[in-house]
Amino acid sequence: MIDLRSDTVTKPTFEMREAALEAEVGDDVYEEDPAVNELEEYAAARLGKEAALFVPTGTMGNQIAALTHCRPGQEVILEVDSHIFYYEGAGISALAGVQPRTIHGTRGVMDPEAVRDAIREDDIHLPETGLICLENTHNRAGGAVVPLKNMQEIYQIARENEIPVHLDGARLFNASVASGVDVKDYAAQADTVQFCLSKGLGAPVGSIITGTASFIKKARKWRKRLGGGMRQAGIIAAPGLVALKTMVGSLRDDHDNAQLLDSGLRGVEGLSIENKVETNIVLVNTKEAGFTAKEFVGKLKEAGILAISYGPYTVRLTTHHDVDREDIEEVNYRISGIVG
Ligand SMILES: *Cc1c(COP(=O)(O)O)cnc(C)c1O
Repeated sequence: MIDLRSDTVTKPTFEMREAALEAEVGDDVYEEDPAVNELEEYAAARLGKEAALFVPTGTMGNQIAALTHCRPGQEVILEVDSHIFYYEGAGISALAGVQPRTIHGTRGVMDPEAVRDAIREDDIHLPETGLICLENTHNRAGGAVVPLKNMQEIYQIARENEIPVHLDGARLFNASVASGVDVKDYAAQADTVQFCLSKGLGAPVGSIITGTASFIKKARKWRKRLGGGMRQAGIIAAPGLVALKTMVGSLRDDHDNAQLLDSGLRGVEGLSIENKVETNIVLVNTKEAGFTAKEFVGKLKEAGILAISYGPYTVRLTTHHDVDREDIEEVNYRISGIVG
C-alpha cells in the first residue's frame, strides 16, 4: 500500500527511536523531564518566542490556545475552512465557550479588511472579539501558503484593537520551506503558535505551543485540566526534538513529490487538480472522470493507494517522508490505469 492519506502516517525514523530509548526522563507535571524541557526550550528559540509547551496533539494545542486567550461568551474570528472551525468537533465552543465568527477566505487567506469589519465594537448587545486565528499552511485549501504580508496586515489590525492572534501552524515548516520565509518571521505575526511534530516532521506524537512565558504558564494549567499533563513524556519528546532538528530539510522532497503528482495527474484525462500545489498536498477533482470522491478512494484502494475524500468530488493526496519519488511515479501510473 502506498499511503497518501496524510503526513501523519509517517513512522519515526531510526534516530527518533534511538532518541526515545536514550532519553533522560522525569515527571513532566513537576517540570522535571529533561528531554521535554530541552524540546520546549529549543522549540521556543526556533520560533523566536519566550516559552513553549509540549502537548499531545495539534488539536489540544489549538484548544488550549483558545481556552487561555478567551473567556466564555467571547467571539473568535477564523477562516471558514480552518482546521479549528472545521475539524475540531466545535471544541472552541464546547470547551472554551466561545462562538466562532467565520470569514470566507481565498485559498485560506482572509482579507484583512474583512477581519477588521468582523471585530466587534463596544456595545452591550455584542460579544467581544477575544481572538483571531490564522492557519499556515492552510490544510483544506490544499496546503496553501498564507503570505507573510497578509499575516502582517492582520496582526497590525489585531494589535490596533488589542486582540490576540493565534497561528495554527500545524504545517508551518512546510510554509517556510516553500516560501523561504523563516518560521520566526511567521511566528512574529502572532501572539501564540501551534505546530505539529507528528506530521511532515515525522515524530510519532506531539505538538508545540509557543508564546510568552506568562501565556505558557496559563496554558500549562489548561493542559493539566484537560488531562494532558504527561509524566515521563521525554520518551515522546526526544523523538520530537530529533524531528525538529533533522527533518525540516526533507519537507522539500515532499513538496517536489507533490509537484510530480500534480504534473502526472494533470496528464490524466478526466482528472483535474483543484489547488495550486505549493507544499505537500494535492486536491484531485474526480467529477469529469465520472467518480464521486468516495468511489475514487475505493478505486485507489483496489490499486494499492490510500487517499482520503475531501469533498463530494475532491480527493486529497498528501506526500510525506515515507513515500519516495518511485512511489509517486507508481501512483501516477496506477491512477492513469484507473481512469484511462
Ligand atoms: C492536523 C492539523 C491539526 C491537528 O493536529 P492533530 O495532531 O491531528 O490534532 C490542526 N490544524 C491543522 C491545520 C492541521 O492540519
